[in-house]
Amino acid sequence: MHLNELYTASRSFEETTTMPLLFVGHGSPMNAIEETEFTKGWKKAADDLPKPKAIICVSAHWQTKGTFLTAMEKPKTIHDFYGFPKELFDVEYPAPGSLALAEETKNIIQKTEAQLDETWGLDHGCWSVVKQMYPNADVPVIEMSMDYTQSPQWHYELAKDLAALRKKGILIIGSGNIVHNLGMMNWHSPDRGFDWAEEANQKIKDLIVDNDHQQLENYNSLGKGMHLSVPTPEHFLPLLYVLGLKEKEEQVSFFNDKTVYGSISMTSLLIN
Ligand code: ZN
Repeated sequence: MHLNELYTASRSFEETTTMPLLFVGHGSPMNAIEETEFTKGWKKAADDLPKPKAIICVSAHWQTKGTFLTAMEKPKTIHDFYGFPKELFDVEYPAPGSLALAEETKNIIQKTEAQLDETWGLDHGCWSVVKQMYPNADVPVIEMSMDYTQSPQWHYELAKDLAALRKKGILIIGSGNIVHNLGMMNWHSPDRGFDWAEEANQKIKDLIVDNDHQQLENYNSLGKGMHLSVPTPEHFLPLLYVLGLKEKEEQVSFFNDKTVYGSISMTSLLIN
């Protein structure tokens, strides 16, 4: 074997059993350090999954012009929020990155010319969840950004390029919130959503169960309740990445299926 080939072979991931897919509603960054009904759901998901070789996280909190992959051995913990206790700002999540996975993912993507990034790290959409799932930080994690210039359909299609990675033990996580309207939050309603939020959450779940991805890509045409529930795309799009990768016959299990503070749904799903 030529030296170059040896180098490439040793850096790529071997085929193994197909890894399930996960979409998580991440909600408040405080979930990173508290034990809540939601963090229990995330931990249970981790317990139910085969241990991944590595994770690719598509987070609502990394939007860029173009598609980027974090490519550093030690991604930094990004505290991209304000007005939370110092305790939360002190948290570091030292999971390693994976240059090999970043390169392999870049090479596998056909839809666009993905680029390697050496400046980002892990934002809270990623680490607040993954820290609860894998507290020992022993699974390498990379992030993939979402191109804010592109349509929902485009993101859905791009996701399909990642399919081969599932067969290599890579866990692909979309982290956002199906219903996410910070401006309309109701602090007096910690355990329930507004009617329009509950209805939108249910509608989205029904479409997921029906495999009606076309309507999900066109969520903007699903009426006023959906406009209120998804006022901006970034927390919804990670769901489309996960659904783009779903095989038709795969099953969906919902967990953490609850709308909180009026306008945030924590609904999460495992696909396998
Ligand atoms: Zn968020």
